[in-house]
Amino acid sequence: MKNTDTPGPFLITYDKRQYMKIISIESFILTDKLKESFYFSQWEYSERQICIVKITSNTGHVGWGEGYGPARIIKAGIEHLTPFVVGQNPLETETIWSTMYRRTLDFSRRGILVSAMSALDVALWDLKGKILDQPVHLMLGGKKRGIVTPYATGMYFANRKDLGGDLAKEAAMYVRSGFKALKMKVGLSLERDIEYVKLVRNAIGPGIKLMIDANHAYNLREAITLAKAVEPYDIYWFEEPLSPEYYHQYSELRTKTSIPIAAGECEYLRFGFQTLLQSNSVDILQPDICASGGLTEAKKIATLASVYGVEVVPHTWGTGIAIATALHFVANLEIFPGRLYPPGQFMEYDRTENGLREELTQSSMKVVNGEIKISDAPGLGFEMNEDALHKYSMKEFI
Ligand code: CA
Repeated sequence: MKNTDTPGPFLITYDKRQYMKIISIESFILTDKLKESFYFSQWEYSERQICIVKITSNTGHVGWGEGYGPARIIKAGIEHLTPFVVGQNPLETETIWSTMYRRTLDFSRRGILVSAMSALDVALWDLKGKILDQPVHLMLGGKKRGIVTPYATGMYFANRKDLGGDLAKEAAMYVRSGFKALKMKVGLSLERDIEYVKLVRNAIGPGIKLMIDANHAYNLREAITLAKAVEPYDIYWFEEPLSPEYYHQYSELRTKTSIPIAAGECEYLRFGFQTLLQSNSVDILQPDICASGGLTEAKKIATLASVYGVEVVPHTWGTGIAIATALHFVANLEIFPGRLYPPGQFMEYDRTENGLREELTQSSMKVVNGEIKISDAPGLGFEMNEDALHKYSMKEFI
């Protein structure tokens, strides 16, 4: 610990703050061709493509961010926002957020420009942490938990002879490697979903939490049928059963099943989440921090969720930048409900093939015995692997 009684060289004087400036923004499109394609209820993945952003200040510090969504469009969004960020003071994350919001509001109250803004905001928090030599969770207000429980997201679909058997084997492998909770895809057809859920539950036994995710493949009648049919398999939550626009149908579904309902990865800004919360649509709220407005907005979304007494478990998908961002965010989340032995905090942990996620960043925040210990390293707490950046980058600079 640093001695805070005596001002040391790490304390930044007012004069120095005045001179701090963002001097450059570069964005990169990273692509990883997959060895084997996989698919879910909506489409197939044969590659992973992600847009990340690097912000540099005149103090020589660097912050990294990532946007969730189609990479090329996010890159265009970052280019649009760049003039409103360069020249600003990197410590003023919320002030810069407000400027970006004002310049996008008329065209993009949800969607890809908000993702571009999110990428920049995440990079600004990382940069601020590097400048101040403090972890992001501390700047968010402090770490309310030091340990987070990742749940393995996998069990996607692939063209296999025995898909059900392979899904069961994959699930058992996650359990053997220490995961305490798993999420599998559904949304192929009610019959196949029910068969696969049964196979996976039988393979993992009763002690492991199992979630299902339909990626809004069903209408209300089908979602009710599926929920009823899989209730005997102890499903921890049913994610995106319905299209994200049908808030009232979500709330009706909640009254028809004992399985908790989760959604939010297609929602943007606190205003979108307010609609989801006001309509009593979900038991678990799943903002993607790299899409819904960055860390600045995610903190406000979490505050809003606390008003409604709804649990927050962020959606994550992408590189180690997105994972580190979610970890710092959940470390800071309010413990809800408060009690002597508080509940654990889940976080999504994608296990599908992704070289970017494995190679781009190096961090001490790894899964050990089904848990991740939150790092106190400055910023988001990872080191960028420049070789991997070069390897996966299409070298498109702003
Ligand atoms: Ca999902």
